[in-house]
Amino acid sequence: MKVELRNLTKIFPSRNKKVGGEVIAVNDFTFTIPDGTLVGLLGPSGCGKSTTLYMISGLQKPSSGQIFFGEEDVTELSPENRGVGLVFQNYALYPHMTVKQNIMFPLQNLKGADKLTKDQMLERALEAAKLVQIDDLMDRKPSELSGGQQQRVAIARALVKMPRVLLLDEPLSNLDARLRLQTREEIRRIQKETGITTVFVTHDQEEAMSISDMIVVMKTGIVQQVGKPQDIYDDPTNLFVAKFLGTPPINVFKGNVAGGKLYIGGAAVLDVPGVSDRDVTVGIRPEGFNLDENGALVCELSNVEVMGRDISIVSKNEASLNPVIRSIINSDSKIDATAKTVKYSLKPHKVFIFDAKTEERIHF
Ligand code: ADP
Ligand code: MG
Repeated sequence: MKVELRNLTKIFPSRNKKVGGEVIAVNDFTFTIPDGTLVGLLGPSGCGKSTTLYMISGLQKPSSGQIFFGEEDVTELSPENRGVGLVFQNYALYPHMTVKQNIMFPLQNLKGADKLTKDQMLERALEAAKLVQIDDLMDRKPSELSGGQQQRVAIARALVKMPRVLLLDEPLSNLDARLRLQTREEIRRIQKETGITTVFVTHDQEEAMSISDMIVVMKTGIVQQVGKPQDIYDDPTNLFVAKFLGTPPINVFKGNVAGGKLYIGGAAVLDVPGVSDRDVTVGIRPEGFNLDENGALVCELSNVEVMGRDISIVSKNEASLNPVIRSIINSDSKIDATAKTVKYSLKPHKVFIFDAKTEERIHF
């Protein structure tokens, strides 16, 4: 099911009574989620991810704008009639019910032509449970399950009505690191197997990058960039997006352009033909550095960590806007770990420059 958001906006009265006024939680969000894809809504806390999801689900009404499922305008439709499955961070299971009863619960209120017999409900519940691999836990209570198992029950409960759209709000946040990894792969598998159009909300860029077909990066209610994870990483539209994606994070420097050359702290580090003279902010991905005896970017060497495939080098430079610079170099390279300085040349496609004031990308 294709999901289309048209100029979706949500304005709340501010929660802060002293300041008063309004908060624009989501600001003019227009985007089409292609049928059968998994879209990651990514951004820091408070940027409007949950509000967007709740508007798609019908739990919250937009202040303006429209939502379409396929060709159907669902903006005024109640949550029950939209055919969405919702999964939250806190699994929100009924503690006094067994796993089976929890999964069957959404089927018990079906009316009219949709009404199911007890056997049909059991069959559907078992199918959903098999999909998330908890069919051997059907008679347990939630308190007898691990966090990961509880979240699977919540996903099964969301799937049992065969929703047109599956909505997940930070579903992995309450799980420990290992389970987070495993469960995110599970979610991807289930999404592929069922082909249900899915929106996955997270503040964790790695999570979003690893499972999404498409990512929407948000900041203060405003969409910053939409695209495939790798495309956004390789071609960020502004400094915020460049900084939000990638581990280790991008290295940021004060710089300037003069005479078609990019300068960092007085050293000409790269040709940037066609860019007019101005102050810029420079972003260099950790993998954008070459160890180079003749390299123009000279940094004070702090630490060298050999990590099998890669060498991680920590260094410092006065023009760096981060406390340290982290570069990742192929371990075939040789580095003298006792040296005082390290010299780098740069890979042009791993270097991004941004206007120092607007922080918008300047292409070269
Ligand atoms: P996220 O899920 O990205 O953390 P939210 O969508 O929950 O962000 O919130 C976006 C903004 O809207 C925040 O500034 C938040 O404080 C505000 N907000 C969310 N819900 C309400 C509400 N019911 N009343 C007032 N402000 C709200
Ligand atoms: Mg949220």
